[in-house]
Amino acid sequence: MPDTAKPDQYSMQDPTKQYPRPKFPRQPQDAPGLAKDMDPQPDHGEASYRGSGRLQGRKAIVTGADSGIGRAAAIAFAREGADVVMAYLAEEEEDAKEVVELIKKEGRKVATFTGDVGDEKTCESLIAFGLEQLGGLDILANIAGKQVAVESIADVSTEQFDQTFRTNVYGMFWLCKAALPHMPAGATIINTSSIQAYSPSAHLLDYASTKAAITAFTKALAKQLAPKGIRVNAVAPGPIWTPLQPSGGQPQEAIPEFGTQSPFGRPGQPAEVAPAYVFLASQESSYVTGETYGVTGGNPLP
Ligand code: NAD
Ligand code: MG
Repeated sequence: MPDTAKPDQYSMQDPTKQYPRPKFPRQPQDAPGLAKDMDPQPDHGEASYRGSGRLQGRKAIVTGADSGIGRAAAIAFAREGADVVMAYLAEEEEDAKEVVELIKKEGRKVATFTGDVGDEKTCESLIAFGLEQLGGLDILANIAGKQVAVESIADVSTEQFDQTFRTNVYGMFWLCKAALPHMPAGATIINTSSIQAYSPSAHLLDYASTKAAITAFTKALAKQLAPKGIRVNAVAPGPIWTPLQPSGGQPQEAIPEFGTQSPFGRPGQPAEVAPAYVFLASQESSYVTGETYGVTGGNPLP
């Protein structure tokens, strides 16, 4: 919990002062990066998120659940009463362990799966594992993502372009495809787009393109599944303080100023994004599908 923050997200307070503002220290990490090595420490709602039974008894798979937005969503889902299967990469075990402990403390079931979502067979195995552990599937939150900043198209390798699309777009497609035959009416899929889908940065050519693809995929699948009573939505965050950024998602010299360009003048914290996933997962959003929910700190989505 940063010292500038009130102990919860429920007391009225000035959002411009709620969390740390730039400048931040330079802090390069190798991808995928660990939340535990970030300074200041991100807030994933560990000490603050308060559930109120909005997902009681739901069965959820969350990808990228070890850190950042995925961790905040996993904690929030569990505190709202859901059992959770967490997916992430093997190198992230240290971050993941902390989340497992927090979910166990809630008395919810938690199981972990490591593997590359850029591989179709791994995606099928994750869904099979989730079904076995949870006894069904009501919520699929596709939050895993890859972002590598490169100044010029001349230096974007085919390998990087391919891996970014495999992780962000193909992984989502394969997970949805494997999950849907098992999802009942009332189930929800939540994908993770970005403000980059609409206002792409010059140095995020491949990443921004994947996020635009995710937005279109979400809208098309929502139309396809509406008659079955399954809803599909996306969350589109602006700059959020997560390991994705100092591990190559931004040029290292941009990290000290990260979030300055948002009207609030600071990056968002994962804990500020999680409530959007909870809303879209819960029955409260029963008439919302094909929607993109922006959490951008004031840079408007179109
Ligand atoms: P993060 O690094 O904490 O989370 C990304 C996670 O993706 C990692 O923890 C890792 O477990 C997972 N991942 C990466 N490659 C993978 C692979 N090949 N197979 C399986 N898992 C893999 O960062 P985050 O910012 O919380 O990212 C979560 C999502 O939010 C991503 O989709 C990202 O594009 C999106 N997003 C982030 C921001 C931001 O500013 N941080 C803004 C908009 C959108
Ligand atoms: Mg991580």
